[in-house]
Amino acid sequence: MAEMEVSPPQVPAGGKRIGVVTSGGDSPGMNSVVRAVVRQSIASGCTAFAVYEGYQGLVDGGDMIREMAWEDVRGWTSEGGTLIGTARCMAFMERSGRLTAANNLVEKGIDALIICGGDGSLTGADRFRAEWPSLMDELISSGKRTEDELKPFRHLNIVGLVGSIDNDLSGTDATIGCYSSLQRICQSIDFIDATAFSHQRAFVIEVMGRHCGWLALMAGVSCGADFIMIPENPPSENWEEEMCSIIKKHRQMGKRKTIVIVAEGAHDRKLNKISAVMVKDLLSQKVGLDTRVTTLGHVQRGGPPCAYDRMLATLQGVEAVKAVLDATPETESPVICIVENKIVRKPLLDAIAKTQEVAAHIQNMDFEAAMRGRDAEFEEFLHAFNITAATDKPDMLLPEEKRMRVGIIHVGAPAGGMNAATRAATAYCLTKGHTPIALHNGFPGLCRHHDDKPEGSVRELKWLDAENWASRGGSEIGTNRGLPSEDFKTTAYCFEKYKIDALFVVGGFEAFTAVSELRKARADYDAFKIPMVILPATVSNNVPGTEYSIGSDTCLNALIDYCDAIKQSASASRRRVFVVETQGGASGYIATIAGLSIGAVAVYTPEEGIHLDMLVEDIKFLKKQFGKDKGADRSGKIILRNEKASKVYTTEIIANIIKEESGGKFDSRFAVPGHVQQGGTPSPMDRGRAVRFGVKSLQYLENYVGKSKQEINDDQMSVTVIGIRGARVKFSPMERIEREETDWKDRRPKNEFWMSLVDVVDTLSGRSKASRTT
Ligand code: ATP
Repeated sequence: MAEMEVSPPQVPAGGKRIGVVTSGGDSPGMNSVVRAVVRQSIASGCTAFAVYEGYQGLVDGGDMIREMAWEDVRGWTSEGGTLIGTARCMAFMERSGRLTAANNLVEKGIDALIICGGDGSLTGADRFRAEWPSLMDELISSGKRTEDELKPFRHLNIVGLVGSIDNDLSGTDATIGCYSSLQRICQSIDFIDATAFSHQRAFVIEVMGRHCGWLALMAGVSCGADFIMIPENPPSENWEEEMCSIIKKHRQMGKRKTIVIVAEGAHDRKLNKISAVMVKDLLSQKVGLDTRVTTLGHVQRGGPPCAYDRMLATLQGVEAVKAVLDATPETESPVICIVENKIVRKPLLDAIAKTQEVAAHIQNMDFEAAMRGRDAEFEEFLHAFNITAATDKPDMLLPEEKRMRVGIIHVGAPAGGMNAATRAATAYCLTKGHTPIALHNGFPGLCRHHDDKPEGSVRELKWLDAENWASRGGSEIGTNRGLPSEDFKTTAYCFEKYKIDALFVVGGFEAFTAVSELRKARADYDAFKIPMVILPATVSNNVPGTEYSIGSDTCLNALIDYCDAIKQSASASRRRVFVVETQGGASGYIATIAGLSIGAVAVYTPEEGIHLDMLVEDIKFLKKQFGKDKGADRSGKIILRNEKASKVYTTEIIANIIKEESGGKFDSRFAVPGHVQQGGTPSPMDRGRAVRFGVKSLQYLENYVGKSKQEINDDQMSVTVIGIRGARVKFSPMERIEREETDWKDRRPKNEFWMSLVDVVDTLSGRSKASRTT
């Protein structure tokens, strides 16, 4: 190793000096981490540094550790990979390398490091932190540094962020990058699906995941695969026969295509590797299928990050800087995690230890312990997959008296994931012996059926009916905005006629209203004294009782693709501000989360409204921003305006005002993506959660089998909304949510969890909060 260079340290004065590193395999979203860390650091009065090329940059020092200015990270959210580079660095595995790295950090005056990487990178980070005092001692004892020089550096602050496409770290539901990777996998499988269907072929698809089967599992759930192979839950001893018999059965039931997903690290229960080629040979020889293998490889890492990864990376980057500022020498190093919808700090060492335990359990062939080591969500997804992928499980059938007839109905506008939820509910019913009944075209459809008796409006669903709905957009059973109050009598009559014992409602605020009406009408109609669950599904994400509605992620992805495209067109022409109108009804959720994901200049929400003073402040801000741009930097800027943010200041008027007032320094246009936001193919997150919540909802409804109408009527929990609330998935009673949590006038929850995120959009765009309060 080259002789260590020694220059006097830059002593931290005032704010902290925070370095950000991306390390290990690259993952989509790392650039949003760097942007958020840099800007949040500067906004907090700290100095931000980027360490280029992972730990190699720390060891090499010099120009590999660069101070970052606000403008340096402009436009980074939409870029895939990591713009500051990453590497696998052998030198950092050795103490001598880490000693050089420590000296380089001291030289730059850096006293905190935020590392975004996989478990290897985070292990390295923690090792570095643990050794830091001894590294300082060694710098002094070897005469490289004096005690005085190192006084401000006795403690190194470390905060971890998990950037990995595998989603392999214990303690967090999602790692930064895993949903983008899943999106790419699902896109590829959706494409393969079409050709598989056409030729009646089988495809064996190998996806990444050496030790973790999350990608394979989630792709299986989202794409409706026939069989999956994952390392932590290997197939049974006689898996060859089991797999072939399931696939034969699916074909006998009429399926034209077969998809098997194999994780890179798949093996049997004795750890013998199961390769895609082995599976292919079996399907060709034992089932007689024309079978092909597709190894997706590095496309799984590539491409721009999806909306969720951008948001997660941004919020976690902000949280990491806050964790640095909160830390004392006694604070344990944290890793920033997400549990359902809540960003939390957890002890870094614990998370790494638990992750390594899972790998050890797999090596020891203790697969039950390996599964326990994964999150509860992982197990639920596996359960959901097993239920939806095979219907013929005699041991799971309930006795006759425990079976129900479940009405499934879609209400309101279509949203991504509605079909996946219906497919899951159908498969669950058939597995348990219940009867799934599609009530086509919402409540008006049901009532019309009674009048005209058209064939097929109320239909018992068979497995094959719903089998290929996993990835379909829109609503296969038809949806309608009409409410039961339009004709309670006929609705009740139909419920009785078709002997509906339980109701599964999928939809947005209309669905919420419909279920509320049914609940209130129980006093007059016994037919409504049945258990009901509503699964919120709407692009607007405005259903009380949940922080997430299926369909909203699909919408966000459609919106960020749209914004990326116009941003690019803006930067290719003149300096331009686009005012983009988003959907969302009277809820600014979509505008705000999209704003975080694309790095919007500002978001205008109905909750806050738009005022003239606000526009004046924002135009001043834009002038300042364009004034700072370097000559060649023509990057476009975006303001997101929710469709109902103001009756007076329309999207077009705002764009015209900005143009008029720009003093010729920049141009402004407006754009309305409209129904593009409903999305075509639903995102894997929407599909996956639809399946998970669909299965959970049906399990929940099952609790009421055998109860009398009176008992059901008296039980508040017999009408519920399933939803994510903070760190938990919960069923909440309609009665309380209607009464306490619903803003009926504006059709949204009274307290919207995301409101504080508007501040984050502002902080990261540099917009002053005063703009909104003037
Ligand atoms: P991925 O999930 O993509 O594999 P990772 O962070 O786990 O990401 P690794 O290759 O394991 O990737 O680690 C990245 C770098 O972190 C290594 O090249 C090395 O520089 C450093 N590192 C890993 N483990 C240690 C360790 N035990 N001690 C010191 N440094 C380490």
